[in-house]
Amino acid sequence: MYNFAAGPAVLPAEVIKQVQQELTSYQKSGMSILEISHRSSLFTDLQAAAENDLRRLMRIPTDYDVLFLQGGATLQFTMTALNLAKKSGKIAFVDTGHWSQRAIQEAKLLPKVVPEIIASGKENHFTAIPKVPKITADYDYVHLTVNNTIEGTMYHQLPAALNNQTIVADMSSIILGYDYQVTDFDLIYAGAQKNIGPAGLTVVILKHALLSGIPTLPAMLSYPKQVKKHSALNTPPVFAIYTAGLVFKWLLKQGGVSAMQQQNEIKAQLLYNEIANSSLYRSPVAVADRSLTNIPFVTGSDQLDAEFVADAQAAGLMNLKGHRLVGGMRASLYNAMPLAGVKRLVEFMQQFEMNHGGSRK
Ligand SMILES: *Cc1c(COP(=O)(O)O)cnc(C)c1O
Repeated sequence: MYNFAAGPAVLPAEVIKQVQQELTSYQKSGMSILEISHRSSLFTDLQAAAENDLRRLMRIPTDYDVLFLQGGATLQFTMTALNLAKKSGKIAFVDTGHWSQRAIQEAKLLPKVVPEIIASGKENHFTAIPKVPKITADYDYVHLTVNNTIEGTMYHQLPAALNNQTIVADMSSIILGYDYQVTDFDLIYAGAQKNIGPAGLTVVILKHALLSGIPTLPAMLSYPKQVKKHSALNTPPVFAIYTAGLVFKWLLKQGGVSAMQQQNEIKAQLLYNEIANSSLYRSPVAVADRSLTNIPFVTGSDQLDAEFVADAQAAGLMNLKGHRLVGGMRASLYNAMPLAGVKRLVEFMQQFEMNHGGSRK
């Protein structure tokens, strides 16, 4: 079967197999990875290797720190604001849908932090990325959700208006799937369970210079303290970091992020073409802003959508139900979704359309 879930999501079959094979004894230690100390060299070596591999994959320069944290992307909504809204306290948000709104809501709860929405896709129901105006106020940073997991939009390019701004990016559902330039951003965060590994790990990549002037904060919420302790202030999520490390090695073997992007473009195009050539399916998303990793589509009938999801599941195409906020269907085509899975989905869509009296364009 093929798993099209938005997160937690499909992992490379090879990686799952390797986890299984070495689960009872990690590197012939006689201990499971689930049992080893986070202070042992067995773990510190694997964490260093994972960081190195991630640096290679994303071409992360040496003046950026890499953190392996907990609390999900959701805690980063708070942590970015606590640490980085340190001068004017003002944060500029581009509202591109659900996850950016969650980030705004969390920032609002903090004293002395003033979130302002500088652009919003609300008018067109978040089916497109809004135009970003020239920045005039003294914001501490601009926050972007670069891929909108629920609405199915993404930034294919960063808005020119944001040149020379401090940019914080939620990259949860497209990190390592599209070849963004790390140096275009000052801080990137991503929950692992979309395109990296198991839930429980959050990757944060931040420019070292950001660390100066951050107020004293509780240790777990402080970037400077986490950087100083190499993400091991307390017990880190050992198993999730280990598995993410295996995924990084798998990605390097596939040719890295640019190869993944190419493959993701082929997969996404296959599905978008099927939608375009069909008289039954429709994509609500503006063509120029369509996501490579999360692809929503609808038939126009809630009843038919529900039938599609149930029949697809019976055919081994799992988790195609759209998010409850937007309905319809959603296929998440992360790095670990093979081309064969998308081909199966497209065949199923054609069959379903024929069975429901559709006529091909
Ligand atoms: C899933 C998701 C989140 C929330 O992630 P958690 O790790 O569950 O907190 C935030 N932002 C985006 C873009 C997401 O896709």
